Amino acid sequence: MNLVWHRADLRLHDNPALGEALKAGPVVGLVVFDPSILQNTSPRRRAWFYQNVAALREGYRRRGGSLLVRTGLPWEVLPQVVGELGVKGVFAVRNSTPYAQFRDRKVQEALPGQVRWLEGQYIHEPGTILKPDGGPYTVFTPFSKRWWAAQEPVLLEAPAHFPSVTPPPGYDLGSIPEEASDVPLPPVGEEAALRALEAFLHNKLPQYHQTRDGLAGEGVSRLSYYFTLGVLSPRLAARRALQVGGEGARKWVNELCWRDFSGDLLYHRPEMLSSAYDPRWNDLPWNDDSELFAAWLHGQTGIPVVDACMRELRATGFLSNRGRMVVAQFAVKLALLPWQKCERAFRDLLLDGDNASNLQGWHWAGGLGVDAAPYFRVFNLITQAETHDPGGVWLKRWVPESNGLAQPYKAPVLDLEFARRRYLAAAEKIAKKPGMAAESQEPKARGF
Ligand SMILES: Cc1cc2nc3c(=O)[nH]c(=O)nc-3n(C[C@H](O)[C@H](O)[C@H](O)COP(=O)(O)OP(=O)(O)OC[C@H]3O[C@@H](n4cnc5c(N)ncnc54)[C@H](O)[C@@H]3O)c2cc1C
Repeated sequence: MNLVWHRADLRLHDNPALGEALKAGPVVGLVVFDPSILQNTSPRRRAWFYQNVAALREGYRRRGGSLLVRTGLPWEVLPQVVGELGVKGVFAVRNSTPYAQFRDRKVQEALPGQVRWLEGQYIHEPGTILKPDGGPYTVFTPFSKRWWAAQEPVLLEAPAHFPSVTPPPGYDLGSIPEEASDVPLPPVGEEAALRALEAFLHNKLPQYHQTRDGLAGEGVSRLSYYFTLGVLSPRLAARRALQVGGEGARKWVNELCWRDFSGDLLYHRPEMLSSAYDPRWNDLPWNDDSELFAAWLHGQTGIPVVDACMRELRATGFLSNRGRMVVAQFAVKLALLPWQKCERAFRDLLLDGDNASNLQGWHWAGGLGVDAAPYFRVFNLITQAETHDPGGVWLKRWVPESNGLAQPYKAPVLDLEFARRRYLAAAEKIAKKPGMAAESQEPKARGF
């Protein structure tokens, strides 16, 4: 018997770990509820995770297979299950956050020679798209050129049936906790994700390049929460989009390239968990003002576009990319709130919260040294709303007090012009300093 250890790959379609395990013989699936991750994950995203594990279990069951679940530290749980079931080989899709690498090394040490790591979380794995000199890319455009030129991965279908193997009678398959979510959850499981993908390709992809930037997030796929848990294969999604073709498809697949770029940045520079990617930006004059932080977090700044974004996110678990850039820029550049605290609180609200993409997004929008985004680009929050929500329908929905107008609806917590000048004065000094290396640190689980 072989074990497929599912982590951020809660799917049966296009799952290289499952494909290889099936070549080796009968298969049983396993999900480990790792307390060091789950205790650092917000209730809404834990609920989303548990429900997708339940859907995966149902997928196994319908095909005559079994999915075990266990709670504990993977390097303790896996040897136990391997011993109890007489497992020959363990197969898992590689994860590459700093904690995942640390965890997987410990599992490998506990099961020497028995674990095989496969690709599948990304289209091209972190660490595989390299400069001609072998070094990592730090800027998106050259990364993307290499990425587009790389060989397309070979896709795998979900098995129709599992070869008959079941754990011994009476063997406890484990139960999946039920956790309430404080936001309505999207339809769960890979079949729902595949349907959502097809609906997006059919209805929105052709215009995606023109509609993707709206604050209301209506022209986009909203598939990110499936990608984060690997309920949907990004490799399959990209292939399907390119089969549809056109400018929208090219732009959309380029966003999946941003996802790979995010994974790659964190893989090569784990320091970005807590230090600015370019450590010079650690020296901005941060302002750890708890009232200002609370006003930002709860959508009570008086600035309609910021408040609409945060209120929508709190109420739904989703926010458009434009909205994410707006609130991150406001928090980092204008309010000078410590970005680490904001990134963490923001991730807790996202259903698609993902360490690599969220860190990249905060660094990019906050001008902390990721990519070539210039520090001196500071959004005008009035024109952002007017340009990306013309007519103010979205604004009025989330901030009725604004009546759909972009101007502050009450005295704002910050004088925006003063804040902009304050930031630019500090940033100009920092930009003149030579770069310096960040210190490395111990990997810690921080939830998914
Ligand atoms: C401050 C900030 C924080 C963010 N945090 C996250 C996060 O925690 N998790 C997350 O998945 N994305 C994050 N993003 C990236 C992006 O905003 C979301 O992926 C996107 O809005 C999700 O909506 P969608 O699925 O409709 O995207 P689409 O526009 O349909 O794009 C398709 C897919 O491409 C990927 N993608 C799109 N834009 C980006 C991007 N800029 N960076 C990386 N991947 C991208 C996502 O997987 C997305 O599902 C963040 C961006 C910013 C600016």
